[in-house]
Amino acid sequence: MSDKLPDLIDPLLLAERHSVLSGAIKITALERLSDLVAECDGFVEIEVAFTKEGKQPVASGTIKTELMLECQSCLQPLPWPLDIGFKLGVVASMAEADRLKIDCEPLLFNGEKISLNALIEDEILLALPDYPKHGYDCIGHSSSGSGNFETKTNHAKAENPFSVLAKLKKTGD
Ligand SMILES: [Zn+2]
Repeated sequence: MSDKLPDLIDPLLLAERHSVLSGAIKITALERLSDLVAECDGFVEIEVAFTKEGKQPVASGTIKTELMLECQSCLQPLPWPLDIGFKLGVVASMAEADRLKIDCEPLLFNGEKISLNALIEDEILLALPDYPKHGYDCIGHSSSGSGNFETKTNHAKAENPFSVLAKLKKTGD
């Protein structure tokens, strides 16, 4: 978990050595992602195994994190747990990419080291929804004004996103 992850990697060399990279990346280190989240405090936990399937170098891995997005309906914080699996085939050209097995996404590599952070960030951005929203009628909750507002706020407290996060953290261990 505290392993220092390299930023620039050579996926072919790593595949030759059957290396596994695992550790945590600060969300603040992922600039494009930082712009999208409401809080940048957390970490992204990753594990990427490099290996060869026949002659094909592949990188398969998992990304786990809990992002705090902004709900596009009510603009309130929206905890968004992510558990992504990916498999990339290292290729030198699009022609090679066409020959990849169906379960592999191409990872173009021209010999110059590539950024591990950027690779992970791309996978996360692909997995995020364009319009993240609460899974319940959050606008109905927040715009209901006076009257029985109090009981509704109590409901909101019961569904406090932070307690949800805490629960996720416990089960994640
Ligand atoms: Zn909402």
